[in-house]
Parts: sequence; C-alpha cells; structure tokens
Amino acid sequence: MKKMVEYKNIPLKKEFAERIQRLIEQNPDLGFRSLTQFIEDAARRRLEELEKEYAYKLYEHFNANEDGVIIKDWTLEPKPRYIQVYFRPDKIWCEYCLSDRCNHIRYALTVPKIKEIIKKHIKEGWKLPDPDNPEEWWGCPDLNRGPESPSLGA
Ligand SMILES: [Zn+2]
Repeated sequence: MKKMVEYKNIPLKKEFAERIQRLIEQNPDLGFRSLTQFIEDAARRRLEELEKEYAYKLYEHFNANEDGVIIKDWTLEPKPRYIQVYFRPDKIWCEYCLSDRCNHIRYALTVPKIKEIIKKHIKEGWKLPDPDNPEEWWGCPDLNRGPESPSLGA
C-alpha cells in the first residue's frame, strides 16, 4: 500500500467544494469517488505542468575563475554531480564528458559571469567559442575529423 501523508484542513470555499461535489455526482463516468480524489487529480495535473515548465534547471553554475568553471549537474548521481570544465587556449574542455562541446559547456556559455571570462580570453587571443554566438562555433566543421563525421545534432 502506498504511504499516505495526511494533510488535513486544506481549506476550500464552500461553494467551490459544492461545485466539485456536484460535478462528481452528476458525472460518475469521470471516475472520481471523492472530492479529495478530484483535488488530488487536479493538483497533480497542475504540478506536472509546472514541473515541465521549470525543468530546465538541470545545470547550475557553482563557481568560476580564469581557468575554468564548476557546473552542478542535477541529472547525474549523486545529485548534484560537480562537473569541472576547463578553459584552455584552444578550447573549452569538460573533464566529465571528455569533450569540448557537451551540454555542460553549452550551459556554461549561457552564464553571464562565464561569458565575461571567455570574452576576456578571446581578447587575449584564445580560440574559444563566441559566447554571444556559440551556435556558429558548434556548427563549424571539425577539421580534425573527416567529412564522414556525424553532425553534431541539436
Ligand atoms: Zn560535459
């Protein structure tokens, strides 16, 4: 049996509760056996909607300096997993993905503080993606790979 936590006394206006009650009674085909069941269903739908809307918070910027940044990744265990991303003169490098173009780096390039550091390095002559237009960088052909190399995708 599912563990139930009882939250008593969630106040409902009488008219509102009666409207729900009426809907439930007049429409048994809806399958609600109680007002509580209805409220739970309604709340779950809204919750799922909002969870989707706010689900983008998969990554968080933990700290950054001239040499790199640490990204908190909420999609990996243990949650959050701390991911080290390095800034190097020729690329940005993710220690976890062993890649220069993973989602951690894509995310990092959206953080204002990191953008500033990257722009500073670019001024110093580093060959890094322009944080204001990273898509151009992702889209540029990797000259170290042959033409058969798969496209980067989205
Ligand atoms: Zn990565």
